[in-house]
Amino acid sequence: MKITQANFVISAVKPEQYPEDALPEIALAGRSNVGKSSLINRMIMRKNLARTSSQPGKTQQLNYYRVNDMVYFVDFPGYGYAKVSKKQREQFGQMIETYLRTREPLKLQLLVIDSRHEPTGDDVLMYGWLKHYGIPTCIVCTKADKIPRSKWDKHVKAIKQKLEADPADPVVLFSSETGMGRDQLWDVIMNAISH
Ligand code: GDP
Repeated sequence: MKITQANFVISAVKPEQYPEDALPEIALAGRSNVGKSSLINRMIMRKNLARTSSQPGKTQQLNYYRVNDMVYFVDFPGYGYAKVSKKQREQFGQMIETYLRTREPLKLQLLVIDSRHEPTGDDVLMYGWLKHYGIPTCIVCTKADKIPRSKWDKHVKAIKQKLEADPADPVVLFSSETGMGRDQLWDVIMNAISH
């Protein structure tokens, strides 16, 4: 995918701030530090547009990035950060649930998992919500450069098993470091927004 335009639009803290131009949205969920910002930056070929190591604790904002005047990437707050209060967790839950339940332009959810580790309880919960709301989902296993090639299959299999993943859901092994999986993920995205 050739990137001709990419810009940050808004950190939206309430639905009234979500863009109204009805461009398709690709949302990203994953635990803090899993590599969501790096993934966005790699997808759009910008070094620092998406802020890496996004401030944990900001549980209430959705970061919107507009790409090629064609699609928005919508970065959810990273979850699973230990120092978040119960109230903040609830706010996160409410915001995400409302978004998933009502957001018409949402065409695809990327569930971003660290390919080195088993999905956490929060990952399993998030995947469950996506299935419950019938959101088309792609599982992205990132940081693939950190495990040897000979172990890729084993790790992907373990992740799918733990999530009890629907075999129909695409799984992309990705590395923001090397660019591995970028073309494949753009194919999945283009396929999702053309339906
Ligand atoms: P976020 O909190 O999910 O947005 O995570 P970041 O994108 O800020 O990444 C967290 C850390 O992991 C940073 O130090 C990144 O450089 C590193 N990182 C992210 N993706 C990759 C990857 O694919 N490979 C490697 N080796 N490091 C990565």
